[in-house]
Parts: sequence; C-alpha cells; structure tokens
Amino acid sequence: MTIAVDPSCADPVDTGSIPADDALRRILSSITPLEAAERVNLRPALGRILAEDLHSAVAVPGHTNSAVDGYAVAGSELPEAGAAELTVLGSSFAGRPFHGRVGPGQCVRIMTGAVMPEGTDTVVMQEHAERIDDCRIRIDDRNEALQNTRRAGEDIERGDMVLARGRRLEPADLGLLASLGINEISVVRRPRVAFFSTGDELRSIGEPLRPGEVYDSNRYTLYGMLTRLGVHIVDMGVVKDTPEATLAAFRSAADNADVVVTSGGVSVGEADYIEHSLTELGEIDFRKVAMKPGRPLTFGRISRSWFFGLPGNPVAVMVTFYLFVQPALRHLMGEKFAAPLLLEARSETALRKKAGRAEYQRGILVIDSDGTLTVRRTGPQGSGILTSMSQANCFIVPPVEQESVEAGSRVPVIPFSEFRV
Ligand code: AMP
Ligand code: MG
Repeated sequence: MTIAVDPSCADPVDTGSIPADDALRRILSSITPLEAAERVNLRPALGRILAEDLHSAVAVPGHTNSAVDGYAVAGSELPEAGAAELTVLGSSFAGRPFHGRVGPGQCVRIMTGAVMPEGTDTVVMQEHAERIDDCRIRIDDRNEALQNTRRAGEDIERGDMVLARGRRLEPADLGLLASLGINEISVVRRPRVAFFSTGDELRSIGEPLRPGEVYDSNRYTLYGMLTRLGVHIVDMGVVKDTPEATLAAFRSAADNADVVVTSGGVSVGEADYIEHSLTELGEIDFRKVAMKPGRPLTFGRISRSWFFGLPGNPVAVMVTFYLFVQPALRHLMGEKFAAPLLLEARSETALRKKAGRAEYQRGILVIDSDGTLTVRRTGPQGSGILTSMSQANCFIVPPVEQESVEAGSRVPVIPFSEFRV
C-alpha cells in the first residue's frame, strides 16, 4: 500500500519548482533599476555604480612626449646608412620643457615624459647614442622616424567617452578619472537592504546554547556578501517563528528598505511563516527552484520592496544569494555586468547528481602539475555543511540534464570570484 505524497526534492522530476534560469530571468525582469543618483568625490566612488556617461574634456597625454630617456631629433635627421653627428642644444625634463626650436644637425637631451621640443618628432634612446663630448653625440642607422614617442591623445582624445553609465568603478577607473582632472562624479544611490534570520532555535554569539539550539550564522554570511556589494545594510536580527513576529518584521523591513532578505522559514514545516506573511502583505512570484541546494527559494514583493526568502540551511543561503540576490542587487543598482564565467575542468572525483535539476556542488579548482584545470569536490555536500563553502573556491555545475559525472571527465565550474565584486 502507498500513501498520498506531496512534491519534494526527492522526486525524480520536481513538479513544484521552476528552472534556475527562469527564476533569474523573472527576478531581473521584475526589478526596475534605481534612478536616484548622488555626487561623490573620486575616492569614495570606488565600487560605486556610475550614473552618467563620462566624456573627456582633455586629451591624454596632453602633449606628445618621450617614452624613454634619450635625444629628441627630427626624423629627417636620421642617417639612412652610416652615422651622423648632432649638436645637443639643451635638455627637456618631465614638467620642465625645452624652450626653443631644434633645427638641422641639432638635438635635445630628453627624459621620459618630457614634452617633445619644437622641430622634433623622434627620440633616439640614450643607449643607442654615443656621447662625443658635452655638446655632441653620434647616432647610427638603427633608428626609425617617430620612434619612442607618445602621441598627444593616443590614450584618450578630447571628447571621447571614457566610462559608461552602469560601470562599477575599479581602481583603474579612479586613476583614469584623476588623469582627466575629474574629482566629482554622479553615482547611483546605494539601495537599502534589510535582512533577518528566522528560527526559534537561533541564538546570537555570546549566548550559551541549550540543547537543539544553534548560533545564527546566516546573518554573518549575509552581512559579508551584502557589504561587499556596497549596499546599505539594515540588520534586523533574529525573528521568532510566530505569525505575529514575522508579520511585524515584514512591515518594518518593507518600510525601511528597497530589498528584504530573510533566511529560514520557507520550507513546508510547521514553523514556516514566511509564505503566510508574504501572502498577507505582498505577493509571491515563485516559491521553489529546481536546484540543490536552495530549492525552497521564495521571491516576491512586500508593498514597494522586493523580497527574497532564502532557505535556512547555511550553504543554501550562500548559493541562492550568489545566484539570485547578487545579480538582482547589481541590476537594481543599474550595474551593467556579464553572466558568470563558466570554465571547464577535469573532475578528479566521480559526482552523483539528479537529472533535471541544477546542482551547485562545492569544489576546489587548481591547475595541476601538467597544466590542466582540475577540480576536486570538497567533502560532504549537505546544505548545512558550511565548511564546504569555506574550503571551496568554485561551484561545480554539471549540465542540468546530466545524471552523473565520471572521474576524469570534464565538468563546468564557476569560480567564486565570479560572484564577488
Ligand atoms: P528552516 O528553513 O527554517 O527550516 O531551516 C533549515 C535549517 O537551517 C535548520 O537546520 C535551521 O536550524 C538552519 N538554520 C536556519 N536559520 C539559520 C541561521 N540563521 N543560522 C544557522 N542555521 C540556520
Ligand atoms: Mg526555521
């Protein structure tokens, strides 16, 4: 005799869930990027999202200058064969140019970065010049006209667009803007993200644990991942597993934040009140994704805020955050970004998986002694085993339809660095 059962992650085909790709598409298409911007100085702009296209008002370099230490001459003075003697008129230093015109048979001693004197367009490096005396050098036929110079505007022409709206500002960008003399730019305002943990079993660090209780670790991983993204965080602590406490936390979170992220309470257990509160105060877009870990992922809205109900298990929290919350927040901030880079590695171990769902097993990616990208799975893969995330540096992501992976075969991986900004 058999009993009536509900859909679950143990089913060969998970009927109650949507594919992971669809889940991300639905999230991105329902979130409208923030419009509001603020002006900030260059240093605090690091990691912020540019809210305007930036054009250069100047050329970089501003003047044609020397790329080496040597002698500035006119290209037409270079001997085609044999050697030639030139008179040294003076010196041009970076920041202290030579004033005067350089004519036939003449040259100027020049340092790297110094402006090319009038009448010159070529630099003979000092190692290729023979010093005859204080005011004469000899050069031979190894040189070419225009060599060893940096043309005005060769990096940036006046009016060029240097950085586009939606760019997350990197250290190189700060340098680039500084080179243009730009000290103030417009960046997208930081979104506010409120988050809390749910569970009667959760204790804060510092408190003693009674039997069956665990420390709230999700708030710390969430703190870390959110902080790195550069959003304003509103840490609301632990919320008890009661409908009243969950409703009250939802109201206050939605009043205070653009995005609300919770962990736990989204399974089908007796103490799972997230879905109940969401139905009451907002709307649910989807509640399950065909993936492991992370199946009970809920996405929806609470009044004007977007809502992510992450599972309670610590690994599932990180996986669903990296795959869905992270791109959602970047999209909300108006960032233009690419999908995570998928690499192929040789799997050291055989992997078992269920066909029809996306699995994110934790792996350690290395380049082995023969130069092959190789991945080894971390130990046990339970969704509560946080050491697997801490030891790993990548997700191993066999194709959704694949069943198992043989040892030695190739398997797609996504380095964790793809989820960090
Ligand atoms: P739940 O989804 O609420 O049923 O939780 C699933 C599992 O994750 C349970 O074993 C919880 O104790 C655990 N869990 C939930 N929230 C947290 C948290 N904030 N920190 C550590 N473990 C948690
Ligand atoms: Mg719970």
